[in-house]
Amino acid sequence: MKQETMKVLVYHEPGKISLEDAPVPEIIKSSDAIVKVTLSTICGSDIHIIGGHAGVQPPHIIGHEFCGEIVELGSAINDFKVGDKVAISCVASCGECFYCRQGLHYHCTDPDCTCFGTNRANGPSLNGCQAEYVRLPYASNYMHKIPEGFTEEDMLFIGDILSTGYFGCEQAHIQPGDSVLIIGAGPVGMCAAITAKLWGPAQIIIVDQIQSRLDVCLREGITDIALNSTDVDVLKKVRELTDGRGADRVIEAIGSEATLLTSLRAVRIGGNVCTIGSYAKPVTLPLNTHWVKNITLSMGFVPVDRMPELIKLIQGGKINTKFLMTHRAPLNDIINGYDVFGNKKDGCLKWVITPYER
Ligand SMILES: [Zn+2]
Ligand SMILES: [Zn+2]
Repeated sequence: MKQETMKVLVYHEPGKISLEDAPVPEIIKSSDAIVKVTLSTICGSDIHIIGGHAGVQPPHIIGHEFCGEIVELGSAINDFKVGDKVAISCVASCGECFYCRQGLHYHCTDPDCTCFGTNRANGPSLNGCQAEYVRLPYASNYMHKIPEGFTEEDMLFIGDILSTGYFGCEQAHIQPGDSVLIIGAGPVGMCAAITAKLWGPAQIIIVDQIQSRLDVCLREGITDIALNSTDVDVLKKVRELTDGRGADRVIEAIGSEATLLTSLRAVRIGGNVCTIGSYAKPVTLPLNTHWVKNITLSMGFVPVDRMPELIKLIQGGKINTKFLMTHRAPLNDIINGYDVFGNKKDGCLKWVITPYER
């Protein structure tokens, strides 16, 4: 028998979250699916949300990085069946509006669509995945079957941070033989490093202040060089490593004025900077001294249409993100998860959430 209530994580006010009961979602439209969340995780942007920096109006069920098992399907969906295991995008999208057709799914104008676990003032609102069940509007647009022989563990990050890292690399226009600099060795920066390799750069350099994260990058072989900016002059070192020119491509994966400024200073003349960090504050850039460098600067919210490509790359053994899963506990322990992940305790890269245990 289907349960009537479920456990969900609710954001109440900056700094305040709690695990509560809520009704299990139901099919509203024929294009909906209901999934049981089989694996989810906490994203850096959830930390922004509970810090009050993302404009999410409380109270709201949060979480947007997840895989699930289909438990109910609207009558219009015929390419999936109940019981299918699926990887799901962090953003719901109608697939038909102007922005969806441009591949800018986060900006979908359908009133039912936005990023899961967020809402906008007087705008769309979608419950999140830090719950036992989630309703997916227009589900078949952005849920993808997990292929035979693979599990949620293989695919958990494709709908958000892996797509984000991949987007950063695409926007940075990496060429074979390039020197790629990644600023920030958090999970998103690591996903950028993992995918940067697909373009065949000569060297991938990563920068962070947390030595244990830099050690992981070297141990997992996702970067060639790892610089700790607390004891290395990053700009000087990058010039040394690039014949005095600077990095061909820079991916900024933090989202602060200081790191964006470092990116502009570290990139070579004519190079590309893509920032995939999410910014909590405005930044001031010295364009008076940098405009002459012919830099291409890009930014944006992750597009989610690369998920099929990422699934194939994982199937082909070209990408593996499992090492990011440093911590794992049922939904029951999620409050502790926010503390450990949010405060970067205990070497935590990703806190993985398994279903609620009764
Ligand atoms: Zn996210
Ligand atoms: Zn749309």
